[in-house]
Amino acid sequence: MTESTRQQSNSSSTAMKGLVFDEPLLFEMGSPGRAAYSLPKCDVPEVELEALLPEGEIRDPIKSFPELTELDVVRHFTRLSQWNFSIDTNFYPLGSCTMKYNPKINEVTAALPGFAQHHPYTPEALSQGSLQLMFELQEYLKEISGMAHVSLQPAAGAHGELAGMLMIHAYLAKQGAQRKKIILPDSAHGTNPASAALCGYSVVQIQSDERGLIDPAKLESMMDEDTAAIMLTNPNTLGMFETDIIKITEIVHNKGGLVYCDGANLNAVMGKTKMDAMGIDVLHFNLHKTFSTPHGGGGPGAGPVGVIDKLEPYLPVPVIEHTDGRYKLNSDRPDSVGKMKAFFGNFGILVRAYTYIRSLGPEGIKLAAEMAVLNANYIKASLQEQYHLPYDGPSLHEAVFNDKHQLKHKVSTMDIAKMLIDYGFHPPTVYFPLIVKGALMIEPTETESKETIDGFIEAMKDIARQAESSPGIFHDAPYMPVASRPDETTAARSPKLRWKPSA
Ligand SMILES: *Cc1c(COP(=O)(O)O)cnc(C)c1O
Repeated sequence: MTESTRQQSNSSSTAMKGLVFDEPLLFEMGSPGRAAYSLPKCDVPEVELEALLPEGEIRDPIKSFPELTELDVVRHFTRLSQWNFSIDTNFYPLGSCTMKYNPKINEVTAALPGFAQHHPYTPEALSQGSLQLMFELQEYLKEISGMAHVSLQPAAGAHGELAGMLMIHAYLAKQGAQRKKIILPDSAHGTNPASAALCGYSVVQIQSDERGLIDPAKLESMMDEDTAAIMLTNPNTLGMFETDIIKITEIVHNKGGLVYCDGANLNAVMGKTKMDAMGIDVLHFNLHKTFSTPHGGGGPGAGPVGVIDKLEPYLPVPVIEHTDGRYKLNSDRPDSVGKMKAFFGNFGILVRAYTYIRSLGPEGIKLAAEMAVLNANYIKASLQEQYHLPYDGPSLHEAVFNDKHQLKHKVSTMDIAKMLIDYGFHPPTVYFPLIVKGALMIEPTETESKETIDGFIEAMKDIARQAESSPGIFHDAPYMPVASRPDETTAARSPKLRWKPSA
């Protein structure tokens, strides 16, 4: 450890201690004869394996296969789990991802046997409780967003985008006037163009203006009768509200197009805005962001879609209906885009979102949005001397800085992000949105205390000071974790998961 990291470790949170266990591989542990099971004495004659299986079916013995007790294994994996950041251990301000705390009551309700053990083939008549929960969750999402109809089926935000694109495609096909293009702002999340392309549309990019927003005049010049829809994000990925949203949706509607809104940033405006009143025709929700389910590491999630009346016939099946005091599943819908997911979506995530919404209530939901905006603006105001703000208009739930000042000392966004790990904080989202060079996108969410946020601000200020005084220490940061600078692309695409015994 260098002198500077030793000082940091003294001054920062105790959470960091979780990163410094020296943990061997399982293959380097154990001793012959140890086992993690205890079985009664064998009371039948023992038979050699070779007498039971053909030779080719029997694998070679694994050299130095570790023999371990249950406790050896539990401690090993528990310690490994502590090498990682989690929302339960550290501040996790990953912008665009809304890494809010997941209240433990959500886990209690999701684990209730009536929900957790409810088999998806259980007949409708015996599934009334689960169907009621899903129906009511749809009603809450309608109320929170203003959209007239909701389907809970899609399994993630990107999957909701695809459901939305499919509905737009089906609607236009029904009008007998299919179109070819989708307009997308250059600040869009990468899943947006992918969803449009999966649906067979070509993507046309509209450049954000100097405010970081969509310029209605430019949109007017691009919008034509060959454009199926605009796919926008509001508030957008700079954390800014599209102030011209009414003009924008009018321009698209006047030419017969539809408006898709990526609702991943709903946390900033939930219960505050009516998406339908802004002219939004389809919206997806990220239950695993806005409504508290823990995420990262690949899911599961849930990405319900909301639509206006004219798109209702195209919703995925089955649709949950409530008539004569009974909840029913209706799959007899000829214009539907079909099924998006096996059974009824990721049900456990729906239970968590339902619990979260019921725990907060209408006032709590609005307050959560207000606190998320307040926290982000507190960070934005506190760090604007140290970090450059490429777009400094009013913003909502996230603050997007970049490394312009630090680059003068050859310290980059990646260096800053890596150094934050030594301070016990998960780095913010980096290098996204793409329209900001060297973006550092910070989203604190509403669940963090002022002490935690102040600790983060102090760390960021300290890092800015060090970037000036000792830029050299950044290039090997972080010093505390076991792996510091893996090649992220290779680590994600071809991870080394196999242990090879040394000869
Ligand atoms: C997270 C996110 C998505 C995609 O959501 P997933 O659930 O990860 O598929 C889309 N758009 C924006 C702006 C997001 O932040």
